[in-house]
Amino acid sequence: MNKPDCPINLFDVQSSQKVIGQEKFLKAFEKILNHGGYCQGPETKELDAKLAEFSKAGYCVTCSSGTDALILPLMAWGVKEGDAVFVSSFTFVASAEAPAILGATPVFVDSDPETWDMDPKDLERAIDAVKKEGKLNLKAVIAVDIFGNPCDYDEIKRIAHKHGMKVLSDSAQGYGSEYKGVRSGNIADMTSTSFYPTKPLAGYGDGGAVFTNSEAERDLMVSCRVHGMSPEDHYDNVRMGLNARMDSFQAAVLLLKLTVLEQELIEREKVAQRYNNELSSYFGKQKVLDNCKSARALYTVTCANNEDREELLSFLKENGIPCGAYYPRPVNTQTAYQKWNTRSLPVCEKLSKTVLSIPMHPYLTKEAQDYVISKMNEFAAKKNSKAA
Ligand SMILES: *Cc1c(COP(=O)(O)O)cnc(C)c1O
Repeated sequence: MNKPDCPINLFDVQSSQKVIGQEKFLKAFEKILNHGGYCQGPETKELDAKLAEFSKAGYCVTCSSGTDALILPLMAWGVKEGDAVFVSSFTFVASAEAPAILGATPVFVDSDPETWDMDPKDLERAIDAVKKEGKLNLKAVIAVDIFGNPCDYDEIKRIAHKHGMKVLSDSAQGYGSEYKGVRSGNIADMTSTSFYPTKPLAGYGDGGAVFTNSEAERDLMVSCRVHGMSPEDHYDNVRMGLNARMDSFQAAVLLLKLTVLEQELIEREKVAQRYNNELSSYFGKQKVLDNCKSARALYTVTCANNEDREELLSFLKENGIPCGAYYPRPVNTQTAYQKWNTRSLPVCEKLSKTVLSIPMHPYLTKEAQDYVISKMNEFAAKKNSKAA
């Protein structure tokens, strides 16, 4: 099959602008230019309310990035030196960086071989090991919805709560996903998300949000978001915090993007279903748990081994199909995290060597999908005939 004329992108950060109407963005920006409240203006307050409503969560605290959205809840829980924070290792580095930057010890947990999310059984093993050593305080679990796929939250919450720990969902890739009918934002004890341009709810720059059902936690995060400010006296800072405010311009963009999110999630799911049904069984596919919905931030498959993955990366690129290995190095093997690389994580290690992500976004045309599928299956057929 020849490459179609339409563009084939891994992500699409611009098409929704046309769908929504560029004039709406300009009008919203003009409003901000006129009112002059550039940081945490009325747009951010409106966004807090709209996002809480979308997630059916009690409170939403918007902030400057998905990374700050991970740090703020940990600050609210008082995470500090001597605390163990259990975290998936097959993730973007920020999931582990957040506890580490607060002085806590990230304890890496392996992935489930089917969902690629945190494996609850390995979480139990990791907790047992930390307890046996007796040096760290069991504090929190950060479960990552990798590629938008919700974790096994019932199990993870059961295990964490049994040990007096909180569960933070890193749903940077999973905003809009559903766990047993409940939307991301209202499943774990708190939820963090990111609005980086490649995430399901994409801004035009950095942004993030935290969701909680606790007013007390909300108040703590609102204070930590602005240097630990006292709500009564803005010149009295009562704790250490960050500068983690969201700009009004970013909030205005997100308010408009939110109006098409529901439809975009439907379109993403359609592409994912086609890939699931039509891609060769040579490729390993990510399992979504029963009664759950992935936000389909990325569509990722696994190859039989690392050589095949490298070969497929080149083959697709040669044929004009953008693709990438997300993530080629589990966090526990990265230089800054070596000192916490204490556990064997075989599933995670294998995933990092074999995964490959292909074009996935709501505006991927049928022709582009056909072409991606045909090239992927051409590669698989070559591999299968060799194996036979
Ligand atoms: C993108 C991402 C983050 C960080 O979000 P930023 O907005 O880039 O700071 C954290 N965790 C995961 C899993 C991510 O994919």
